[in-house]
Amino acid sequence: MSTDAYTWIERSLETIHRADWYRSVQTLESLPGPIITLDGQKLINFASNDYLGLAGEQRLINAAIAATKKFGTGTTGSRLLTGHRHLHRELELAIARLKQTEDALVFSSGYLANLGTISALVGRRDLILSDRYNHSSLKNGAKVSGATILEYYHNNTEELSQILQQHRHQYRKTLIITDSVFSMDGDLCCLPELLELATEFNCMLLVDEAHATGILGKTGAGCVEYFGCTGQPLIQMGTLSKALGSLGGYVAGSATLIDFLRNRSPSWIYTTGLTPADTAAALEAVKIVQQQPQRRSQLWHNINTLKQFLQEKQGKTTTPDHFVESWSSFHSPIFCVHLPNATTALNVGQQLKAQKIFAPAIRPPTVSTSRIRITLMATHNVHHLQKLVDVLFSILTEEKVC
Ligand code: PMP
Repeated sequence: MSTDAYTWIERSLETIHRADWYRSVQTLESLPGPIITLDGQKLINFASNDYLGLAGEQRLINAAIAATKKFGTGTTGSRLLTGHRHLHRELELAIARLKQTEDALVFSSGYLANLGTISALVGRRDLILSDRYNHSSLKNGAKVSGATILEYYHNNTEELSQILQQHRHQYRKTLIITDSVFSMDGDLCCLPELLELATEFNCMLLVDEAHATGILGKTGAGCVEYFGCTGQPLIQMGTLSKALGSLGGYVAGSATLIDFLRNRSPSWIYTTGLTPADTAAALEAVKIVQQQPQRRSQLWHNINTLKQFLQEKQGKTTTPDHFVESWSSFHSPIFCVHLPNATTALNVGQQLKAQKIFAPAIRPPTVSTSRIRITLMATHNVHHLQKLVDVLFSILTEEKVC
């Protein structure tokens, strides 16, 4: 094997460095929470998906320990062979109850749920319509399926309608795929309009509730509940790794859909079942979502407080319009500060860290434009939020972004 065959990797890494797109890991040395120790530094954490503060919660830890003691560390095989435990089924039924769907299926991650569901539902003779801002797992699921993929502009249902009118009839089946809360921008999809179009054009609609489960809707069922679309013909997926504080993914929908996926979804059939610890922790988290609505209210209180602090601060500076627009309208715990380029985003991220705030830069190719992405948790307090706003504005003013 010629070693020259691998030299392109080094060149590719150099290109990544030159563009300021290089990424590396940082080590979290504490329990997850609003204050973390990262690479030895104590920081206020505004980069976690642990929206309800459940990942370090004692009830989840105890459930995981008890399940590990009873069933061991690994499930030892596919769910269809030796990898299935009654805990998996309990979790699936609990998710179906939360979502008010007939059934649900638990995957080993949200990413795998998207890959395996999309590729089971559509193939080479089919069409996928995908929002441009969709998460990588939806985009890659679409690629893996072999279907024709047409992207529509973000949340542009007019364009989507035109594409459907022009192209729908050329394909056997059509699937529309969308994040419900967009992971990098924090805005919501236009679910009622998407459902109308799906009905009008006889298409399937898959919504990714990764950042909505446990957060949106009266009972925390997600964006579908928030928009009053519970019970509509939809394929809902989500993750157990964000507000539910564990690991794994799910699909919720009709009993027929779930039965079909158990028979046709490669990333469910050909992978090892979720560990007893992760399954038990997620099950406990679903119970907490239903038993403790105050966690969700606290998160929304924090979201509204941050909005208010930003607006007050903005009144005292010459903040550009695009900032004001993006932070007066955020509908989720995800909020972005859009920056002109990757270098500025990296600088702002580093300066935030120097002032004990962890909110890293998100750059291409993850997103098309560079930004600082801030996520809130129910466990942040008012001092954390005030410090974020004060430090952020002083950095943005210094960087002459404001
Ligand atoms: N969908 C969206 C919108 C996500 O943000 C993520 C995780 N970043 C996933 C799916 C994948 O979920 P998981 O982390 O469970 O693989």
